[in-house]
Amino acid sequence: MTRGLYIHIPFCATICSYCDFYIIKNQDTYIEKYVDYLVKEFELFKELNPEEIIIDNVFLGGGTPSLLTPAQLDTIISKVKECFTLVSNAEISMESNPASIDEQKLNEYKSVGINRISIGVQSFVKKELGILKRNHSPGLAEKVVTDAVNSGIETVNLDLIFSVPGQSLASWTYSIEKALDLGTNHFSTYNLTFEENTPLWNKMQSGKVVKYNDEVDEFMYFTAIEILTNRGFDHYEISNFAKTNNKCRHNLNTWNSGEYLAFGVSSHGFFEGSRYKNISNLQMYYEMLSNGKLPIIDSVKLQDSDYSEELIVLGLRASGLDKAKIEKQIPSFFDKANKFMKELIEKEFISESETHYKLTSKGYALCDSITNKFLDFI
Ligand code: SF4
Repeated sequence: MTRGLYIHIPFCATICSYCDFYIIKNQDTYIEKYVDYLVKEFELFKELNPEEIIIDNVFLGGGTPSLLTPAQLDTIISKVKECFTLVSNAEISMESNPASIDEQKLNEYKSVGINRISIGVQSFVKKELGILKRNHSPGLAEKVVTDAVNSGIETVNLDLIFSVPGQSLASWTYSIEKALDLGTNHFSTYNLTFEENTPLWNKMQSGKVVKYNDEVDEFMYFTAIEILTNRGFDHYEISNFAKTNNKCRHNLNTWNSGEYLAFGVSSHGFFEGSRYKNISNLQMYYEMLSNGKLPIIDSVKLQDSDYSEELIVLGLRASGLDKAKIEKQIPSFFDKANKFMKELIEKEFISESETHYKLTSKGYALCDSITNKFLDFI
């Protein structure tokens, strides 16, 4: 069995207006200490789980992992290789922000093993970046994406956000077209969410910005699907598009209920049938590790019913409902869902292949309500 490995880097240089993650405003000395503790965490995990663990994808998420220097990244990857068996063609992926990478850093990241980079561009329009409080300009994003493509890192993903207050269909299309011109081979497009108590949410409450309605959201979403699929991208998950060989292994593993180890403050993992969570407090994370304890605060063994739910929820988001797996896990499911399934096929919300029932682009827009209905048939 191969597994994934997730590493959380909680630091950011500035905090974006819509962000509600557990984030710490960075100072360089923080990261040095954090890397030391990540190393301790890998070693302790290995000591407590001495059997061989084979890893086929590593994902550094955040926060802003690109605040790491190439040397710090090298320390982390080397330790992963020492403690676990990393397959020779493992995907090693990291999230990054345009303001914290440049040509030299990208080349050095590549030489320490990064073969997939995800860049948080969000928009190529200055006003929209201002509303989101991103700390980069459109020009910088363009330069950095070009450098990433030229660096030879195999997969370059761009994150883009739609339904930003004031964004027009023309400016949304402009950002997508601009990104396509730069030659990246993976896209993640997200609908802006107004999380409670974020600066953006407060602005909405005081009437300074207006949230678009569902119709606009849908229109923006379909526009992205149309442009990207027409340009040869496979819409392989609700928010993700890739060229044939550039699908993200880390994402696919998660959506297929694959196991993955998790390291770092506030990270979530899935190991030996249990979903677990690390503590979301940096000081306590350090303390627990200093006392020789893994910083896990919650671990729940997945029950049969949880697994059934995951097959439906994660399947619908990505590669579809796997007929064979579902028939084995929930024998009565397709009998119960038969009438509803027929309706969805007739309305072209779902398409059927020999092995799967998969949401169509039209169906993805209704993913939540379709999922809830299917869950009634478990
Ligand atoms: S860069 Fe990402 S994680 Fe950091 S503050 Fe912005 S949205 Fe949050």
